[in-house]
Amino acid sequence: MIERIVSNLVESNVFVVSNGDNCFIVDAGVELDKVKAVVGNKKVEAVFLTHGHYDHCFYVEEYAKEFGCKVYCSQFAKDYLENSEHNYSEGKLKISDFSNFCFLNGNGEVSLQHFNVRYFALGGHSKSDMAYLYDGDIFVGDVLIGRDMGRIDLYGGDKSAMKTSLEFLHGLDYKTMYSGHGEENAKQVQDKVANLWIKFLSR
Ligand SMILES: [Zn+2]
Repeated sequence: MIERIVSNLVESNVFVVSNGDNCFIVDAGVELDKVKAVVGNKKVEAVFLTHGHYDHCFYVEEYAKEFGCKVYCSQFAKDYLENSEHNYSEGKLKISDFSNFCFLNGNGEVSLQHFNVRYFALGGHSKSDMAYLYDGDIFVGDVLIGRDMGRIDLYGGDKSAMKTSLEFLHGLDYKTMYSGHGEENAKQVQDKVANLWIKFLSR
């Protein structure tokens, strides 16, 4: 089961992905209390960050402390999390203790107690973009937001990396895409959207 919680920080999404009494969380832009209300008595096995922008990471230290779990994110997210100019929090988000963090590099799989989560290093919206696939559902952060391509004009944004990311997602086998903002869409819908943006980026 996937539950979506919308934040007060530019309406970013947090997802609680559960299977029985266990769950993991994707992104951390929603206040801890609201997340705890959804998590209930379930055990949180990990927090995954889709990228290092503040609206997706702001409460991550609180989550890790409360739930006693590891935080998984791209190796490139560290630069964003420790520099408020890079994460766009205007001085409010500056992490210096990374002892709960596991930095991911390239593509691979994280094996938790009850979940195997595949990860794919993307890019284009930020250097720290990382997509996570579990049970046919993919979490892509701000690379594709519904029918919109993510912004490529922010720090670490990159036009050709975005094109590569969209081509990769188009070629990937998944059922449903969950973005960093807005509602989820089926792969058939997102493939059409990706194709349009790939054409746009190829001009
Ligand atoms: Zn973003």
